[in-house]
Amino acid sequence: MPLVPLKMSAAQLDRALAAMARVVGRDQVFAAEDDRRSYRDAYGPSHRSDHQPAAAVAPQSTEELQALLRIANEHKLPLWPISRGKNLGYGGTAPVLSGSVVLDLSRMKRILEVDVKSNYCLLEPGVSFFDLYQHLTDNKLPLWMSVPANSWGSVVGNALERGIGYTPYGEHTDRICGLEVALPSGELLRTGMGAMSGNKAWRSYKYGFGPAWDQMFVQSNFGVVTKMGLWLMPEPESTLTMQFELDEPQDLVWALDLLGELRMRRVIDSHVTIGTPLRTASLFTQRSEWYSGPGAVPDAVVREMAKKYGVGWWTFAIRLFGYEEVNQANARIIKAAFGKHSTREFKESTWRRGEPLPRAAVQVPTTFFLQAVNWHGGRGGHMGFSPMLPHGGEGAYAQYLRTKQRFDEFGIDYYGGFTLAERYATNVNIVLYDRDQRDMTDRAYRMIDQLVKDTAQAGYSEYRAHLSFMDGVAETYDFNHHAMRRLNQTVKDALDPNGILAPGKSGIWPRRFRASKETT
Ligand code: ADP
Repeated sequence: MPLVPLKMSAAQLDRALAAMARVVGRDQVFAAEDDRRSYRDAYGPSHRSDHQPAAAVAPQSTEELQALLRIANEHKLPLWPISRGKNLGYGGTAPVLSGSVVLDLSRMKRILEVDVKSNYCLLEPGVSFFDLYQHLTDNKLPLWMSVPANSWGSVVGNALERGIGYTPYGEHTDRICGLEVALPSGELLRTGMGAMSGNKAWRSYKYGFGPAWDQMFVQSNFGVVTKMGLWLMPEPESTLTMQFELDEPQDLVWALDLLGELRMRRVIDSHVTIGTPLRTASLFTQRSEWYSGPGAVPDAVVREMAKKYGVGWWTFAIRLFGYEEVNQANARIIKAAFGKHSTREFKESTWRRGEPLPRAAVQVPTTFFLQAVNWHGGRGGHMGFSPMLPHGGEGAYAQYLRTKQRFDEFGIDYYGGFTLAERYATNVNIVLYDRDQRDMTDRAYRMIDQLVKDTAQAGYSEYRAHLSFMDGVAETYDFNHHAMRRLNQTVKDALDPNGILAPGKSGIWPRRFRASKETT
């Protein structure tokens, strides 16, 4: 039985795919069982049957993409755009709605511009972090990227999901400047100054004249981004890295108060990620080497990990970028502030322009951190649970205790931490599992469901969610009887009356699926 989208027959799907094949060529329409399998969530539990794509189609130009959107409208065929589909832990290549056809943009991978005076690039969605890095190094361009911990994916896709990195340009979505977007109708739009043909400030001034729409196309299903302007960082003269350890869980309170203050004053100008020893252990070892008893890995075993790797209960690095003199001045301020609370030694290292890059340099793409999914052995996977908190140690510590208690209750190893930005802290929790162990993955799903509710009750919610939790998270944004959902739906219905683009993305359902959702 072929999988067909809701409200569509197999014959209708065949006709739509045949029309698409006439645009992209038969070899760029992927509808065989193997193809469909390869577009499922690579980290999804193997027994689950949700989020199954019916097929995938891969255009190589904006014109082809526009033609596909028009065909999708004619046939009312739901499409799910991906750039490279490495949104691992949040759904990868898979759509929310089973039967959607994945719109794979990975062949649209031109680096259209890199400007070393104004320090920006203009990219198509298929450009990977590795492609851009290669381009910058091959051409000896003095510009740095900011890369996420797992940098397998696309630069555009990551910024569209509000991914982060660890240089001063680490808030990726903030560095977007100017988009070209195909609206669901297929019509092409440029945002910001790009709304004026030939405007030379398109990649330099974000807002244009009147309302600014860039963020409207981020984490939404209002358009398909075909080009993105993105700011790059001028290569700094020097970097200074300090490695800190905190011995006790409750040290989080003073440390986050301090880090928040230093972030807001921009003494520290890049994200700081603070995590527990299991984070280190999962990169180099497997669970069975530490513990094989019932329930989650006990705290005493986590302490053994800390001992083995010479780390504290919490570990973090502070990285400074810029002129060496300025970095040293900021480092003195940071050391004096931490010295008031802790006598623990910390490691410090400096890199200067022209020297070989240090290991794990934060502007170099890597997939090393994916090693963590090997924790349980078998076919590993993970899911993220990431609520946003304001700065402040007390609130973060309460969130840690609440979450850790749930991990223990559900028998899942606690792998959590906090990423400090200038104004907020993301409480990043990674749920590791073996995809083929049904009991383990079911517990993971139930726990995340519970965490969404607990966290909402405490007054927080997530910034990003796995496909399976998008509705649940959207539900927590409930001010004035879900006024935000109603606005999103109004915009969705106006721009996409046939409901063809990414139904269900971020909990936004087009009209024609809303009624059936209510009855299912
Ligand atoms: P990455 O490979 O960088 O991890 P993905 O391609 O998986 O990024 O994209 C993450 C999510 O962002 C997708 O699931 C989709 O919802 C959205 N997205 C990706 N690319 C586009 C695009 N070009 N236009 C609109 N939305 C997109």
